[in-house]
Amino acid sequence: MLLDEATLRVAFGVLAASLGLLFFFSSYLHTKSAFSGWWCSGLLLYLSGSAAFLFDGTPQQLWANPLGGALLVAGCTCVWYSARSLRTRKMPLWAFIVIPTLTLMAGTLDSPATNTWAGGRVFLISMGTTMGLAAWEIWKLEPGYSRERIPLGLAASCLSAFYLSRGVAFMVVGPNSDFFLAWFGTAPTTLLTMVLLAVVSFSMSGLSNEQQNRDLQEKASLDGLTGLLNRSAFLEQAERQLRTKKFNGARSAGALIVADLDHFKMINDTFGHAAGDIALAAFADVCRDNFRSSDLVSRYGGEEFVILLPGISADRAQSLTQMISASLARVSARDGITLPTVSYGIAMYDATKNDLKALISSADEALYEAKAQGRDRAILATRDL
Ligand code: GH3
Ligand code: MG
Ligand code: MG
Repeated sequence: MLLDEATLRVAFGVLAASLGLLFFFSSYLHTKSAFSGWWCSGLLLYLSGSAAFLFDGTPQQLWANPLGGALLVAGCTCVWYSARSLRTRKMPLWAFIVIPTLTLMAGTLDSPATNTWAGGRVFLISMGTTMGLAAWEIWKLEPGYSRERIPLGLAASCLSAFYLSRGVAFMVVGPNSDFFLAWFGTAPTTLLTMVLLAVVSFSMSGLSNEQQNRDLQEKASLDGLTGLLNRSAFLEQAERQLRTKKFNGARSAGALIVADLDHFKMINDTFGHAAGDIALAAFADVCRDNFRSSDLVSRYGGEEFVILLPGISADRAQSLTQMISASLARVSARDGITLPTVSYGIAMYDATKNDLKALISSADEALYEAKAQGRDRAILATRDL
């Protein structure tokens, strides 16, 4: 054999341990990003799993062999979570328990005292599947993510394909055949895993910083009390929306609504500031329930909200305001709290009339008119922009 397995294992162990320490101190502690946190945990589990296999051939093999497989699979599950954390915060945490436990059980029931490949089938398929899921998460990242995701996606895909092919070879020709040893034995596996480590180290700090920046950016664009967009984020996104919608046919028209809670000062004065805050949050919740994800809903300031609704007619905008007010009244009756009524000013835009500042001031004038006419109503702006 060209490559000595024991040397390779030691080299791999040293490489993985140094990278693990580097990631932990330079990336995780610094950014606290979920991506690097999961990746460090994955490395640690991977190292412990590989160490457990060192007991093969000793009496400890009985427990160490199945445990080693389970730890490696748990490590791979962490790699999957690490990749997934770039896209979403929701982790199917049950998988972290179920997949390694299945691997452990399969190994324990397959004469682990004498069989160094105890539970090999389940182990290889679990490794291939979790790595495949990691690759899937990386490929599903929006193109806005940096290009560093490409080598990472390629490495994860290759490793997944390798483990799945290894599983097939294991079942077809068996782990002791020359073919298996040459293509899917310890030496090629360790080499390939080292390549993955090198690729991840390359992409790691970039993606980790990017995740941290995105988190910060998201926090900075939301209003703390209602979770809606804040004024500056709204202005920026609405500007962009109006500019790009310009050339999009029917979608280039739409409505902008300014909503203001009625006699809100009285709620604060009568029931206290906390009650006012509850009313603001309740209005935001009702908006979230009634608008589409493509609509931009913002807390523009105090008790004033500005909403951009691309692609809808004036009639639809008006009926939406009625729906919002009706929902708010229902919440008020159901929870026994006093929520204010709302007045709305609506301004329509199209491909030729779409200056954001002018739209807002036109809707504002209509709102003023709604207040003057007795509040709790929507008025459509008639003034040309
Ligand atoms: P109108 O029907 O004419 O809109 O009357 P209003 O009382 O709603 O309007 P006004 O502008 O006089 O009062 C707005 C009040 O909103 C004053 C301010 O104390 C209150 N406010 C602004 N931001 C917050 C907040 O974050 N929480 C609470 N509880 N109150 C707020
Ligand atoms: Mg008000
Ligand atoms: Mg106001």
